[in-house]
Amino acid sequence: MMTEKRVLLDTPPEQWGELPALAGLEGYRVKQLRDWIFKKRASDFSKMTTLSKSLRDDLLASCLVHGIEIARSARSRDKTVKRLLRLRDNELVECVDMQTPKSRTLCLSTQVGCAMGCTFCVSGLMGFTRNLSASEILGQFLACASELPEPRIDHIVFMGMGEPLLNLTNVLEAIRVLVGEDYFNFASRGITVSTIGIPKMIVQLAKSGFKGNLAISLHTPFEDERRELVKSAERIGIESILTAAREYFDLTHRDVTIEYVLLRDVNDGEGHARALANLLERMRVHVNLIMYNETELRYKRCDDSAATSFQEILARKGVHSTIRRSKGTDVSAGCGQLRRYETPATH
Ligand code: SAH
Repeated sequence: MMTEKRVLLDTPPEQWGELPALAGLEGYRVKQLRDWIFKKRASDFSKMTTLSKSLRDDLLASCLVHGIEIARSARSRDKTVKRLLRLRDNELVECVDMQTPKSRTLCLSTQVGCAMGCTFCVSGLMGFTRNLSASEILGQFLACASELPEPRIDHIVFMGMGEPLLNLTNVLEAIRVLVGEDYFNFASRGITVSTIGIPKMIVQLAKSGFKGNLAISLHTPFEDERRELVKSAERIGIESILTAAREYFDLTHRDVTIEYVLLRDVNDGEGHARALANLLERMRVHVNLIMYNETELRYKRCDDSAATSFQEILARKGVHSTIRRSKGTDVSAGCGQLRRYETPATH
C-alpha cells in the first residue's frame, strides 16, 4: 500500500546508505540514485535507467522519492502555473511556478495554513494547521521541478502558504539540501525567505549561515494600522523589525526587500508613501509594491495610477521600488487562494 512506503527525502541524503531499502548497496549505486534525484530531478524510480532493473523494482515496491501528489494544476494566461499539492496526511499546500521571458521562479509553502492573521490574505483566514517537514518542502520543489519543460529555475521564494521563520529548522534543512553541491546545487543568492517580520528570528536566520535574500512584509509605515492588517503584529513594533533587517544586512550582505501589498484606499495614499519613504530612506532596501490579487475579502486592488504615484514619492527620497503585477490572477494564484477554493469554506 502507498502509505506504507518509505519516503527517501524523509532521511537526510547523506544517510541514505543506511536505509533498509538501500542496505548492502555499493556506494556508487547510492550515488547514482542521488544523482537521478538531485541532478536530474527525477522522482520516478522506473525512469532511473542506469540502476539495475531489480533495484528499480525493489525501490518501486518499497519507497517513494517524495510523498507529494499533484492534486490540481491551473495554468494562467501569463504562464503562471499554480499547483495544489496533496501531502501524505491529505493536507493541501500550494506551489506556484512563475515565469517572465527572462526567468523562472518557484514559490514554495512552508506551513499548512498560517497563524499570522493578515486580514487581506486567504491563507491567514484558514488558520494554522501544522509545519511542513524539510522533506515536504523539498518534495514540493521536486514535484514541481520535475514537471517543468526545461530544467532552469532562477529563484526559489518561500512566499507560499505559511510563515517560514516559525518553521525555521525545517526550512533551513530544506535549504541545506537545495544548495548542497552534492544535492540540488541551487545558488543561495537565488533563494528568498519572506517573513511577516519576527525580529529575533530574522537575526537567527542571518546567524544560521543562510546566504540568501530576506523579504519583509511590512504593508504599512504606521504601527496602529499594521496591527489591524497583521493580527499577529500586536506586540511587534515596526522599528524593531527594521533594526533586525539592518542586522540581517550587516551580517549577510544580502539583499533585503520590503514587501508592500497596495490595498485601494487603505495603504495606497500619498501620506503612506511619504511616511514609508521617511522610514526607509537611509536603509539599503528595495521595495516591492505588490498589486493585490483580489479575493473574497473586502480589499481591492489599487489603481495603476496610485501605484505609480506611490513609487514616485518613494523615488524622491531615493527609495527604490518595483511595482509587481500580480501573476496568475485568473487562476487564483494569490497566497492560499487555490486551496481555499478547493476546500469548503469554513469561515
Ligand atoms: N508569511 C510570509 C510569507 C507568505 S505570504 C510573509 O508574510 O511574507 C507572501 C506574500 O504574499 C506576502 O507579502 C503577502 O502579503 C502576500 N500576499 C498574500 N495574499 C496576497 C494577495 N491576495 N495578493 C497579493 N499578495 C498577497
